[in-house]
Amino acid sequence: MASTDRRKSNPRVAVIGAGITGLAAAHRLFELSRDHGEPVDIQVLEASDRIGGVIKTEQRSDFVIDHGPDSFLSEKPAALALCERLGITSRLVGTQEQFRRTYVAFNGRLHPLPNGFSLMAPTHLWPLAATKLFSPLGKLRMALDLVLPSRPRKDESLESFVKRRLGRQALERVAQPLVGGIYTADPSTLSLAATMPRFMEMERNYGSVIRALRAQARNSTATREASGARWSLFLSFGDGMQSLVDALGDRLGRQRIQLEHAIESILPKGGSWEIDKTDRYDGVIVALPAQRSGKVLRGVDSALASDLESIRYASSAVVNLAYPREAIPNPLDGFGFVVPHVEKRNIIACSYSSMKYAGRAPAGFALLRVFVGGALRAEVAELSDDKISAAVRKELRELLGIRQEPSITTIQRYPASMPQYELGHLERVQRIENRIDSHKHLEIAGNGFRGVGIPDCIASGERAATALFGDLFGMIE
Ligand SMILES: Cc1cc2nc3c(=O)[nH]c(=O)nc-3n(C[C@H](O)[C@H](O)[C@H](O)COP(=O)(O)OP(=O)(O)OC[C@H]3O[C@@H](n4cnc5c(N)ncnc54)[C@H](O)[C@@H]3O)c2cc1C
Repeated sequence: MASTDRRKSNPRVAVIGAGITGLAAAHRLFELSRDHGEPVDIQVLEASDRIGGVIKTEQRSDFVIDHGPDSFLSEKPAALALCERLGITSRLVGTQEQFRRTYVAFNGRLHPLPNGFSLMAPTHLWPLAATKLFSPLGKLRMALDLVLPSRPRKDESLESFVKRRLGRQALERVAQPLVGGIYTADPSTLSLAATMPRFMEMERNYGSVIRALRAQARNSTATREASGARWSLFLSFGDGMQSLVDALGDRLGRQRIQLEHAIESILPKGGSWEIDKTDRYDGVIVALPAQRSGKVLRGVDSALASDLESIRYASSAVVNLAYPREAIPNPLDGFGFVVPHVEKRNIIACSYSSMKYAGRAPAGFALLRVFVGGALRAEVAELSDDKISAAVRKELRELLGIRQEPSITTIQRYPASMPQYELGHLERVQRIENRIDSHKHLEIAGNGFRGVGIPDCIASGERAATALFGDLFGMIE
């Protein structure tokens, strides 16, 4: 960064929200302040009594129970780069590759996803021919993708794209539970351009999703082999995802984090920002779920607030269940299973946590992590704990043969926590970013805009911090 003469000495900055986005933003400000020798008084204001937002790990009876996210993608660089700067890469754990397999519940049974299947389409045709997950006609319809004319569009729903290129079975049995599952979304409204633009590029560049995936699989194997890739695709921490937010909290210093400090409003006041009509700050980063950002920013800009509030969020609940290993007749030889919506069940996905990562359960025990709710089954996440637990146990009996009661059950609810990137999302985000640009020393970050995953949230928070720091000190990149 080059410095100009618009500097501001020792500015006060508020970061609102201490989820991973807010913590990453505050930490980046801290780093910039240190590296440039420009003091900044950073205050993180958090409504609840803990940091981390949806990231929360509990250690109970030698089980490591992640109530929210259990991993992050190493392919997106922001999370891994942050871990390196925090000096915590030695605590990272990769997945147990011998169990890298996903099952799909179909007609009451679990079928392995054919080898080489990538989110919505196959890369290898032999494993596709052998699977019982699709009918012969369904397989033929998928293979038609190789010859169908290419009709790329600017945006399209997941449902429309997959039906058009690969057919209804690919949509209902794989793309909906896998892609829709990542966003707990309704595929008929999920914007492909906002979530998986690479699939649209595949059609544009190769004329076929299958052809593109095959070319990419060849390239990525070659690249990974050539670079001797060090990390597995999914990473977690030996003692759970909470390690990441705790390391951020420690590095920042707890004196910079005010817990149980819910913010209701931000207002412009004589060139600075007034929070809840009392505290003045020179700069503010709002790092909340988009709908809440809209509420606190209503007094600043009603058009901005309306766009923020119109980003819908879905609710879900995560149920962790511990069993003696011998109580589960299923070999659990995978990372878990997904359940297509057409199966009409309560469970939308189940991870075999103790198979996916070593050290999640003590010897002789297994830990399962079940998701319910989401945009297509919102009502399930609102049932009582007893009803959720009974519904989950019934379906685990049917799908995994478990008859015994779990030795531990935890239920964590996530009301309005997963943003829905619906058709028109990118245009809305562009409008939001333009409005934010028109307000001096105000930035916004979070999972509501350009990515829901932990690396996306870190990148979003760090981008906001860099922009604000540059603006406060008159520095340009
Ligand atoms: C169940 C679940 C599982 C997931 N699994 C994964 C996964 O495995 N891998 C992955 O990469 N991603 C996963 N995600 C997505 C990812 O975890 C989230 O997108 C990300 O953690 C969101 O972080 P955030 O800081 O933006 O928001 P949040 O975590 O929601 O944090 C926002 C914070 O703001 C606080 N707050 C709210 N209102 C106010 C206010 N008015 N004033 C002050 N503070 C306020 C809240 O208390 C909270 O601490 C998952 C998400 C969920 C819900």
